[in-house]
Amino acid sequence: MTPVIALVGRPNVGKSTLFNRLTRTRDALVADFPGLTRDRQYGQARFAEREYIVIDTAGIYGDEEGIDALMVEQSQQAIEEANVIFFMVDGRDGLTSTDIEIAEHLRRGEKNVVLLVNKIDGVDADQVMADFYQLGIPEMFGVAAAQGRGVSHVLDAALLPLLAKLEAEPNFDDLVDDEELEGIEDDLDDLSEQELNDEETESVPFEDLPIKLAIVGRPNVGKSTLTNRILGEERVVVYDMPGTTRDSVYIPMARDEQDYILIDTAGIRRRARVNEAIEKFSVIKTLQAIEDANVVLLVLDAHMGISDQDMSLLGFVLNAGRSLVVAVNKWDGLESHERDRIKDELDRRLGFVDFARVHFISALHGSGVGHLFESVQEAYRSATRRVSTSLLTRILQGASEDHNPPMVRGRRSKLRYAHAGGYNPPVIVVHGNMVESLPGSYKRYLMNYFRRSLQIMGTPIKFEFKEGD
Ligand code: GDP
Ligand code: GDP
Repeated sequence: MTPVIALVGRPNVGKSTLFNRLTRTRDALVADFPGLTRDRQYGQARFAEREYIVIDTAGIYGDEEGIDALMVEQSQQAIEEANVIFFMVDGRDGLTSTDIEIAEHLRRGEKNVVLLVNKIDGVDADQVMADFYQLGIPEMFGVAAAQGRGVSHVLDAALLPLLAKLEAEPNFDDLVDDEELEGIEDDLDDLSEQELNDEETESVPFEDLPIKLAIVGRPNVGKSTLTNRILGEERVVVYDMPGTTRDSVYIPMARDEQDYILIDTAGIRRRARVNEAIEKFSVIKTLQAIEDANVVLLVLDAHMGISDQDMSLLGFVLNAGRSLVVAVNKWDGLESHERDRIKDELDRRLGFVDFARVHFISALHGSGVGHLFESVQEAYRSATRRVSTSLLTRILQGASEDHNPPMVRGRRSKLRYAHAGGYNPPVIVVHGNMVESLPGSYKRYLMNYFRRSLQIMGTPIKFEFKEGD
């Protein structure tokens, strides 16, 4: 389970500054969800090769009414869903009565709280921090978010133990063994070009592990209906994964001799209880499901069109490098001009995810649902297939023969060889002279060439260009 850090504190203590610093470590696409959150931001971040999620909550003043109170409620939801709270205070302002109120509030929540005394640049940190001891939060760090001072120390001390704890809880093992991959890469780097050509050209699929499929989408797009439809058609054993009620439900199932684990973010079983209100949409739960999945099934509502929230979710899927299948639901009962309009909109707004298959379905009536799984399997196979160096190198040569790389600063760049640098999503590393300076248009040509040659669908491909042999 991907850990979640919530940044909490008065306005102007530096939460956004820290948020930007943390999420930037991963070229983060910082999405905000209009309508759902006012100024709450969600970001994906990375530390010590590990992914986590950061939420920047709305500031808490202490005496909220009306819309401000609503914002506090949003912060409250973030606090409940987080694994650890970074409570930020302003070292320059010193301790305020609002800080004391927030601290009391957090203490009642039984959450792991870490106190960050911010803005310790240019002041006597020890003296400033002494002011805050009376908050009674034992884990206390001085930081300067603006300069990044002390931040990695906090992550070391607060995030790594949390990761270890979460890992100790039962989960489904990742499919790719990083150490093994590194070994392969080292081997490949040692190969001479002749050896590369002698190598096997086959593509070997990963062994058959269950495909973790997350069904995500905005509220009311039809996720529960779809999940029920999928499960209703198959014999399933629903069992409880340990975890809180806020977590997604993990449902093992089989279809066409392929095992799956459905990650259900909509909470179908809880909905089955009579007087249970519709589950509140949880961005965090959705993000965790995306991070945990092999393939994401993004459900859109044909009646509603594509919203900014849909685009934000899409951004998270892409940012996480996950395989993607898009289901445009509620395709039943639409006039043909309405269908045309939606297809136009999809072309316009989803043109940049041309690798993903789009299905038009009706979860209510079941039409199109079966074909979804063909695309899910295809996406998974594409993302995890092992492709040999010699095949990649041959494709690279084919590409450069069809279209010579352009001159870069008066010199012709030379493409030498390519090898796999990872899977899920696939990473292709291209070696050669002047390859880093190749124009974007040629890089895109190469990427398309690889995609078509390898018939990779449903997953992004990452490219790295490396200078020299
Ligand atoms: P938020 O309202 O809690 O999100 O606070 P912001 O991140 O917007 O920061 C409020 C102000 O504090 C901005 O002017 C920042 O530039 C400033 N600030 C943030 N971090 C630091 C820091 O480490 N040192 C100093 N001196 N100023 C900081
Ligand atoms: P969720 O919040 O994403 O889980 O959405 P639900 O599955 O609860 O569906 C929201 C509403 O859309 C319900 O009233 C469903 O009956 C309706 N719905 C779901 N799928 C379809 C569909 O394929 N066609 C139509 N017309 N309505 C649907």
